[in-house]
This record gives sequence, C-alpha cells and structure tokens, in this order.
Amino acid sequence: MSGLCIAIALLRDGIDDVTIYEKAHEVGGTWRDNTYPGLTCDVPSRVYQYTFAPNPDWSHVFSPGGEIQAYFRGIADQFGLRERIRFGTEVVSARFQDGRWVLRTDGGAESTVDFLIAATGVLHHPRVPALAGLDDFGGPVFHSARWDHSVQLRGRRIAVIGNGSTGIQLVCGLAGVASRLMLFQRTAQWVVRMPNPRYSKFAGPTHRVLPWLDRLAYRAYKRAFDTFAVALTKPGLRRKAVAATCRASLRSVRDPALRAALTPDYQPMCKRLVISGGFYRAIQRDDVELVTAGIDHLERRGIVTDDGVLHEADVVVLATGFDTHAFFRPMRLTGRDGITADEAWRDGPRAHQTAAMPGFPNFFMMLGPHSPVGNLALTFVAESQADYILRWIRGWRRGEFDTVEPLESATDDFNARLRAAMPDTVWTTGCDSWYLNKDGIPEVWPFTPAAHRAMLASTDRAQYDLRRHVAAG
Ligand code: NAP
Repeated sequence: MSGLCIAIALLRDGIDDVTIYEKAHEVGGTWRDNTYPGLTCDVPSRVYQYTFAPNPDWSHVFSPGGEIQAYFRGIADQFGLRERIRFGTEVVSARFQDGRWVLRTDGGAESTVDFLIAATGVLHHPRVPALAGLDDFGGPVFHSARWDHSVQLRGRRIAVIGNGSTGIQLVCGLAGVASRLMLFQRTAQWVVRMPNPRYSKFAGPTHRVLPWLDRLAYRAYKRAFDTFAVALTKPGLRRKAVAATCRASLRSVRDPALRAALTPDYQPMCKRLVISGGFYRAIQRDDVELVTAGIDHLERRGIVTDDGVLHEADVVVLATGFDTHAFFRPMRLTGRDGITADEAWRDGPRAHQTAAMPGFPNFFMMLGPHSPVGNLALTFVAESQADYILRWIRGWRRGEFDTVEPLESATDDFNARLRAAMPDTVWTTGCDSWYLNKDGIPEVWPFTPAAHRAMLASTDRAQYDLRRHVAAG
C-alpha cells in the first residue's frame, strides 16, 4: 500500500525513473498475504483508500480483504506500475557508496540509485510461537498470514491460538464452518461491537456521479480519527467514553462466567482495540469454546493445556501476530561511514520525523518507527509521508543539495519529545502489546494524526544535514 503510494507520487511529479522491488509475485502487501476467513479491514473503506483514487464501489462500510486487495491490484494497473515492479526480487542489501545507494538482490544483481525508500510494511514478518510439540501435531498448522487454502475447514475441529484483531476476525469467519472451534486466549481483549452494513446498490453510481461525496466522507472520517486519537494519547473524557463503549459491548455476553473470562484486566485501547460486529455473538455459540488455560504443549491429537486437558483438533491456526520491530530488515542497510542499520538501532528502531535516519543519506521510510499505526487509516499516513519524501527529492532535482539526512541532534530531540509524551498515552497503562519495544516504551506516534501531518507538511531544513558535492561522479 505505501510502496504503490510513493511510486505514484513520484510518477505524478514527473519522476519516471522509479523501480519497485517486490519479493512476492503480486502487489498488495498485507492484503496479498492475509487471505484468512473473516478478513475485513476494521478501518472504514471510504477512508482506507488513496485520496487520489477513490473507489465508489466499496461493498461495505468495512470491506472484506479480497475487495481491498482487488483495489490495490487495480491501482497497480491504473497507474502503470506493473512495468516498473521487479516481482520475485528481494533486496538483500543496500550500501551507500560514492553518494548513491548500491542495491543487491537475492539473485546477486546490483543496481545503483539516487534515493532509496523502504516501504516494507510493519505487520509483515509472521511471529510463530515457540510452543512445545508444535511439530508433533498430526494435522495442518499454519500462521494466519500464510493461510493454507488446500486445507478443508468445513466440519473440522479448528483451534485458533491468539485473540488479537486477527484471531477475533477468524472466530467470526470460522464459527458455523468448523464442527468445533476453540479460541485459545492468553490475555483477554477489549472489543468494540460495530455493525458493518452493506452499501445499497445505489451507493456506487451515486458516488460516481457525485465524487465530492467521497471527499466529504473521507474528511469526516479523518476528523473522527483525529478526535478518537486523543483518547489514545491523553487521559480524559474521550478515553473514558471509549472505555464505556467497550464495557457496554462486553455486556452483550449473557453468561457471567464467559463474560468474566472475556474481561481484560487492563484499560481499553492499551492493546490495539479490536473492532468486531460479530465476535461476542460467535463466542456464545454452542460449537465455539473459549479456552483460557495456558498452552502447555501440542501433541499428535491436539493442544494440551496446563490443567492437563487435551483439546483435540484437526487444524491449528496461529493467529500469533508479527515481528513489528523488524521494519525493512533483514535487508542489510549500510549507510555513510559504513554504519549499519542494526548498529544504529542497537537500542531499538528510531527515526527522525518517522521517515529518515541520521547517517543514512537519501534514504527514507514509509511507516517507519513511531508512525501513527494504531487503529488509524494507514493510507493517510502513507500519503503524508509520500508528500514529505517527494519534497526532498524535488529539492535534490532542483540541485539544492546532493544528499540529505537528518542531524543526529535533531533526531535525538525528536525522540526525546516522543518519549516525554509516552506516559500520557494509553499504551503505557499496564499491558503488553506489539506497540511496545523491548524496554516497554511504545514505538508508535504519541500525538494526533493531525500533528503528524502538520509535522511532515513543514520541513525545517535546520534539522537536516544537506551536503553538496559527493565524491566521484
Ligand atoms: P496481535 O495483535 O499481536 O495478537 C497476537 C495474539 O497471539 C495475542 O492474542 C497474543 O496473546 C497471542 N499469542 C502470541 N503468542 C502466543 C503464545 N505463545 N501463546 C498463546 N498466545 C499467544 O496479532 P494480530 O491479531 O495478527 O494483529 C496484529 C495487528 O494487525 C493488529 O493489531 C492490527 O494492527 C492488524 N490487523 C488489522 C486488521 C484490520 O482489520 N485492520 C485485522 C487484523 C490485524 P497476548 O495478548 O497474551 O500476547
């Protein structure tokens, strides 16, 4: 999503020497990789789209994953991106040398570029838990982002491990398909019940004739996200209102024992809020079971919990999340003076203004460290980062500098400001989540999305090291 976004921004600005490296064989990123039953985007479709390419034909307020993937495939066609994409090509290393980046692919080919942009996603590397006996299980086991469509699901006993946004959507998708569905919950999740109405058959034609309707909806959602974000970043009324909505949603579970088992012991939104119209209904079905005992090990017949009970299953799905701290790695990035990204990030990933790194000239990231990624529309984050990167590249094309990188001091100040804001955020109120780094500090944006857009919209050149000249060349 973010790679296509920046490529289109460059092309629309008249920069046509753009190459996209893609290790898979299709575009779409997370929407290509995730094909599990029940997948929908829990961000409304009228805002989870590019502003420059509205889709009048979304079927639902929250559209299914396949429809979103079709949208991105269509974008690649519409903007002539496919001829610029090297499919099946992984960039294994990138080295800054003589003022340019030298890329090396898994096939051993080298190419040299003026600017390198990592648009490698956040929720990309599946995290497979180190569960004892995982290999001993007699049936299929796979991660939610590596769905095995050859496996028959109807009438089978299916175990889902993990109850994040993915596990909960899976429960909705598999309830009634499986003969028995077991959800293994390690930590309860707050869930907001939100209906997902279908758009009427008149919505598409109306939006096509009146395109300003899309812009209006987009603006309204954007404003709603800015308002909601304050609940994440500051204690107060809005946070209390979201918490009350979560508690009201939970009250739809009638059995007190089940309700108690589903009640988290931390504040709503501390982990990413789960939005689901169907979960509480699905979990109350007779053929769906919530298992809260810890997993001891797997054996041939199923999962044994630490109370000694064997939960027999035919299929095990690992909805156990992603390594969210990898960013562009395992690509080996070597910047100025031979410093590697692993060395620069010894204490954890950090960037200046979420998009650039000191010591790595002419290198930018889309959705880099501390980008606003929780419960928000990443498409508008990507668009503002694309604009920001494009402005630097324009300056370079005008000959104002040969290389640009943020100053170490500016990056330190920026990260100190982020750290100072963290204690106010809901993510530090006492839970574990993928937002936190190894020291328990959130790696996400602690202000509103509007503040992020404003920051990227005005570039303070004093925070950057702009150099002219470069050796050789
Ligand atoms: P996640 O939120 O990281 O959840 C992983 C789940 O697996 C948690 O319930 C975790 O339990 C559990 N788990 C991990 N290791 C385990 C182990 N060894 N034993 C038992 N349980 C274990 O991952 P996700 O659900 O894939 O979601 C990741 C993110 O993807 C979301 O937060 C969201 O940003 C995005 N997403 C978005 C949508 C959408 O509709 N927009 C849909 C799906 C996903 P603990 O809580 O105890 O750690």
